[in-house]
Amino acid sequence: MKKLLLSLLVFLLLFIAFLVIRTVTFRSRQLQVAALPKVPVSDSAKFHLAEAIRIRTISPEDPAAFDSTAFYRFREFLRKTYPLSEQRLQPKTINKFSLLYKWEGSDAGLKPVILMGHLDVVPVAEESLKDWKAAPFGGEIKDGYIWGRGAIDDKMSVIGILEATEKLLEQGFQPKRTLYLAFGHDEEIGGRNGAQAIVKHLQTENVKAEFVLDEGYAITQKLVPGLDTDVALIGIAEKGFASLELTATVEGGHSSMPKNETAIDVISQALVTLRKHPFKPTITPPVQEFIKTLGPEMPAFQKFAFANAWLLEPLILKTYQKTPSGNALVSTTMAPTIFRSGLKENVIPAEATAVINFRLLPGTRINSIVSEVKRVIKDDRIRIKLKPFSSEPSPVSGIETAGYNLLTQTIKQTFPNTLTSPSLVLAATDSRFYYALSPNVYRFLPYKINKENINAFHGVNERIAVEEFEDAVRFYERLVRNVD
Ligand SMILES: [Zn+2]
Repeated sequence: MKKLLLSLLVFLLLFIAFLVIRTVTFRSRQLQVAALPKVPVSDSAKFHLAEAIRIRTISPEDPAAFDSTAFYRFREFLRKTYPLSEQRLQPKTINKFSLLYKWEGSDAGLKPVILMGHLDVVPVAEESLKDWKAAPFGGEIKDGYIWGRGAIDDKMSVIGILEATEKLLEQGFQPKRTLYLAFGHDEEIGGRNGAQAIVKHLQTENVKAEFVLDEGYAITQKLVPGLDTDVALIGIAEKGFASLELTATVEGGHSSMPKNETAIDVISQALVTLRKHPFKPTITPPVQEFIKTLGPEMPAFQKFAFANAWLLEPLILKTYQKTPSGNALVSTTMAPTIFRSGLKENVIPAEATAVINFRLLPGTRINSIVSEVKRVIKDDRIRIKLKPFSSEPSPVSGIETAGYNLLTQTIKQTFPNTLTSPSLVLAATDSRFYYALSPNVYRFLPYKINKENINAFHGVNERIAVEEFEDAVRFYERLVRNVD
């Protein structure tokens, strides 16, 4: 007996030693690249961004409210502001408003690189106007910030890329590798007339890209638990999007003699049942890479957990599930977003409808969600319909690629003391269409996101510090040089 206990103890000690060794040898994957001195950025750059903000290129929810004149004005503004890019990169107009610039490289044997952005912005809610500290379309520069809708999403990248391009052209820079600048005009409403059409056009020209860069993530400040250092997250995949409309039809009538259930009860019951059967949380490859990349940088306890993720996965999942943003990284989520039924207080409605929005983890398919919902609800009084504009989760881009390396290198050269890591983007971006052109699609916008400004884009007081915008220009300039 004593012998058995002893050998158990020895085994346990060995096992703990094994876990500790794994932790100690959990080595940093950070690229060792020194930051470079800041290059000068033209004084006019910030005024150009401000002017871009003043042009209301809004993608309205209601297509009838679309104002084409703003997009024509924006086109004119680019023509006049970036004359060399206009002349040398000959932007092509796609579906009237989207733009595709081509900077022909000197070596046709090299695969091109595509830098993306979008020209449209979301509307500003009337009731939020009183909370803005500057007019949302005023393009004001005050207190060291450039204010307004699009300052971050996504005019900083469109203008940032063009500022860099124009400057490089002025200096007579000639890339070896062809570069495309691809700016869609309807990202905020799905990107089907913009990004998707640009991709189709490039496919007809047989373009296969080395890598593609779009918005999606940024440099996070104190948003990764356990890390005080700035962390640049690069999206290597994005979640899918699907909405299911559930409609229950049950005989209606007068509410003085009700049956046990109305259509409202049936749909409510279905929602409750679905809530009781959440999708199983799981660590998908992008989050796995995040754990492997940031784990070694973490304080002791998290480092231990991440180094032994294979063993402590349930604990890691539980921790993630504690916050909505963490949960979204490890789960296919569902949220009822529309509920409709009833017209009169004393009439039992014959129909009730709910729309549930799902965000799918990589590796999940929309049709499996539909069948899972049917299976869980088990009620044939409910019709289930997949709403249009769904999109499957994207494939996962590799991190051992020239493109990913170049990005991390450029980030570290431009932003001192910044960690880099791959991650999973929770929202949909235009870049999902670009897998048709390259397996290497990355999502990163060179600006700093923190608790203060995390709700600003698509929300109130969208703004970017002048200094930060100039760093974005530096980032794009450096990237173009590094790509060569
Ligand atoms: Zn955007």
